[in-house]
Amino acid sequence: MSIIGDLIHNSRKIVIKIGSNVLSDDNGFVNKESMQNIVEQVMKLIRDGKQVIIVSSGAGICGVAAINKWSRRGDINYKQALCAIGQVELMNAYKEFFGDYDIHVAQILLTRDDFGDHIRTLNIRNALFTLVDEGVVPIINENDSVSVEEIKIGDNDTLGALTANLWNADLLIVMSDIDGVFDKDPKDNRDAELIEEVYDTDGLLLEIDSRGKSRFGTGGIVTKIQAARRVNEYGIPMLLVNGKHKNILTDAAEGSRKGTIFFSQRR
Ligand code: GLU
Repeated sequence: MSIIGDLIHNSRKIVIKIGSNVLSDDNGFVNKESMQNIVEQVMKLIRDGKQVIIVSSGAGICGVAAINKWSRRGDINYKQALCAIGQVELMNAYKEFFGDYDIHVAQILLTRDDFGDHIRTLNIRNALFTLVDEGVVPIINENDSVSVEEIKIGDNDTLGALTANLWNADLLIVMSDIDGVFDKDPKDNRDAELIEEVYDTDGLLLEIDSRGKSRFGTGGIVTKIQAARRVNEYGIPMLLVNGKHKNILTDAAEGSRKGTIFFSQRR
């Protein structure tokens, strides 16, 4: 078994964050095949005795796909409206795919304020523990239609990390459309190598800062490393994999695909 295989094998409580890019096709529409395959992979984890919470993006793209307008509107009220429409579509799709396995899903929409309030965090924890104990798969997203820019968590990498910490998860898996963190920008450098294990997220962030985003190609990598730092502080490792590859978790566990693991120093 690979290191990733060991990591997954030894983790019981797993938060899986799924990015919009993973769920969308080249035209920005929802790729149901991709979603179905992810659900299949989650079901395999559950059958292996694991508990899973999903943090899923995709309300925005689902909204555009559903209503087929406003996609270019920058006004915040239209963005909020799209997410409100899309969230229903997103959950419908999850409900359908998990329903094939007789598994119920539950929607939890959170805002930044929820994590700053003691009573609310307690309530979220209680709801999550109850749902998971009862065999339901909670699916969390930011409550986009009530979160305007200034009060937003902003990105679901952070939301995934906050959820993992709140639930005392054993592992946070971030499914993105990149294979992991590279030592150079893989788009410009054919010899760029994947960094398979990271122990120093601060060092990595500093390096990106000093060389600029171009070193790693994707701007989004910064929020992923910050998410890793957030969970690592609580002793939780994070695994970054490319969710666009079919059966990525099984393949990574078997060693035929790779990813980047961010290990906590306190391991
Ligand atoms: N909450 C947003 C959505 O569902 C996505 C935020 C993110 O992907 O970081 O569209």
